[in-house]
Amino acid sequence: MCGIVGYVGTKEASPVILDGLRHLEYRGYDSAGMTVLNGGQLSTRKRKGRIVDGLSKLLDETPLMGCLGVGHTRWATHGEPSDRNSHPHHDQSGRISIVHNGVLENFESLREKLAAQGHEFKSETDTEVLAHLIGACYEKQNGGSDGVHPLTRAVMTALREVIGTYGIAVVCSDFPGLMVGARRGSPLIVGVGGGNILLPAMRVPSWLTRDRSPT
Ligand code: GLU
Repeated sequence: MCGIVGYVGTKEASPVILDGLRHLEYRGYDSAGMTVLNGGQLSTRKRKGRIVDGLSKLLDETPLMGCLGVGHTRWATHGEPSDRNSHPHHDQSGRISIVHNGVLENFESLREKLAAQGHEFKSETDTEVLAHLIGACYEKQNGGSDGVHPLTRAVMTALREVIGTYGIAVVCSDFPGLMVGARRGSPLIVGVGGGNILLPAMRVPSWLTRDRSPT
């Protein structure tokens, strides 16, 4: 069980995501982290331990600016609680970042397959394998005439190979206004209002449901 939050809108993403993570922290106290996209660049902060001792302090020291991001509070299932195993995780290129709630049962065979193709992993998590798999699918596709967005298509293709449960939020530095979410067996809801889109596991904040005017 983990808590995930994704945000895209007109506000600074970091405080919105941090607030969401604080409310979801009961879902995992092992670590917390966040990726924000700004100027075509993904920046990530993540740290072992409670939000108040780790991520929150880290963000005070080195803030994240940008209106699109994903965040995570972890209950470790694969890989010990550590900075390295904290979410978000990136693909091989570093252009894709994901947060994940769930368990990928076939991550070892996927990891072996990707390693044989030259992928190098920085953590012991099942989630990083999914990040690399999405990245590999994204690199491989050539256009496509189905009208599906390339990042969405890469996520859909990758998830066809996955056995297990997931709620994920995915961002890519190539697409500053886009966040892709998917779920199977893990909770994930979409909140839309006032030019903001929120992708939390479970909870939509009151400002989003209250304020429906453009901001
Ligand atoms: N399996 C992932 C990890 O260990 C997510 C954990 C979870 O959702 O409980 O990092």
